[in-house]
Amino acid sequence: MRYSHIFGITKREANSALTEYQKLLSRAGFVRYAQDSVSLLHLGHLTVEKIVSELIRTFSPEAQPIGEIAEWPDDVWKLVASEVSSHRQLPISVYSRRGARVRFLEMLPDEESIGVRVAAYQKGMSDIGGNFGVPVKEIEATYLHPDDTVALAAAVEIDEGENTWLECPECGYAAELHAARPRVEPLPPEPLEEVREVETPGCTTISAVAEYLGVPESRTLKAVFYADRDGRIVFAVIRGDLEVDPVKLERAAGRGKLHVATEEELVAAGMVPGYASPVGVSKGVLVVADESVLAGQNFVAGANRPGFHLTGVNAGRDFVPYIWADIAAASAGDPCPRCGTSLEAARGLILGRFRQHSTALSENLGLLYLDRQGKPAPLRFLSAEFDAVKVLEAIAAFSHDGSGLVWPAAVAPYRFHLLTIKPKKEEVRTAAEDLYRSLGEEVLYDDRDASPGVKFSDADLIGLPVRVTVSPKSLEKGGAEVKRRGEDGRGTVVSIEKLASGSFDS
Ligand SMILES: [Zn+2]
Repeated sequence: MRYSHIFGITKREANSALTEYQKLLSRAGFVRYAQDSVSLLHLGHLTVEKIVSELIRTFSPEAQPIGEIAEWPDDVWKLVASEVSSHRQLPISVYSRRGARVRFLEMLPDEESIGVRVAAYQKGMSDIGGNFGVPVKEIEATYLHPDDTVALAAAVEIDEGENTWLECPECGYAAELHAARPRVEPLPPEPLEEVREVETPGCTTISAVAEYLGVPESRTLKAVFYADRDGRIVFAVIRGDLEVDPVKLERAAGRGKLHVATEEELVAAGMVPGYASPVGVSKGVLVVADESVLAGQNFVAGANRPGFHLTGVNAGRDFVPYIWADIAAASAGDPCPRCGTSLEAARGLILGRFRQHSTALSENLGLLYLDRQGKPAPLRFLSAEFDAVKVLEAIAAFSHDGSGLVWPAAVAPYRFHLLTIKPKKEEVRTAAEDLYRSLGEEVLYDDRDASPGVKFSDADLIGLPVRVTVSPKSLEKGGAEVKRRGEDGRGTVVSIEKLASGSFDS
């Protein structure tokens, strides 16, 4: 490709609001960042295509491409499952693309093959780190469905990164925010009391009721109300010293998008705002309880009557939630679930995630096939998604120097950056044009009538692996000067014939 023809050229300056790696990608003419959008230019597009190919080669080389899917994930699962009726068709691996995002879906015949594929994805995560020159670490990922059995994310720590997760400095536990769970210390056991109604005038918050009754907040039950699109109430109960994570709650409730319930919605469901109680909750209200309400006895809860609370409330005896789930929010400073050390916030980029889904999900969606015994069985799914623009950014964050980008050979948009000094000289232009024709799709040819300084600094900024310079001097020495990006010194002279024949080994 001739540089004078490509869409998107280098810039001296980049928007100061961008991160350093985004500035590099922007200045080098790979990506344009706007307020709400990221656009790939010619060089960025080529690099992303190579990254996607590497991702497919690494994670699921057998995967077959299928069309773009309107919704992910349920629709694609149904589509793929509708094509499978018998165990003889398994395993099947497909991928679909939407722009820079690639998604894999695998259907596997048995638990053993699932285990093999999970291990392959884990190995793939460290392999892409090696191939792309970025330190990828595996962290626990947000589950898509409460019954998912494995959920892991490929994370790259970068100070300016847009993603946040939690890490334990002591034991190495690391998880995305909506996957992490703080350690909940159980309260000392005590004999169960009877439920009693006590007066608590004006105590509409946890801290107020705890202070009024002289109990720690961990001895209270917090009630949080959400509603689904149809106004149906989801009543979340959690120990008073914890907070509800709305993302976890949405996943557990399985009623789609939830919003904080309005006072009107609460009153319509027979609740008293500020004093609502899980005890004697009205029909039609979905109660989701965090496991923390089992980490203690004799809790204080609302009495569903203004100015009153209940004491001696015990889950299981006085109320039975419809769903038990982990709905506790975790944040920096909370105790690590494994060792109790304070969790710390980490920043970086999440390149992708993969998950092993429980067969309960297939059962719920009715995705069945006939197994070896000829019996209907739920399909076993593994899914993964990667964002090649995040990969592009992570590479830029790690593969650069003071002059610009340094692309790993596997994903560089072109292998060679061809440029000339004194192109007006006939022999220089002829040699360069010859090389350009011979190197074909592997070369970006800076054919501009610009100064050598401009061409060299652009070549460094763009960062292709091998710079080939044709000049009167190099021709005198018998060819073109070849220099690898990131290498010190002047490079070596290689004959035009050798370069053109492709026998040159970079
Ligand atoms: Zn820990």
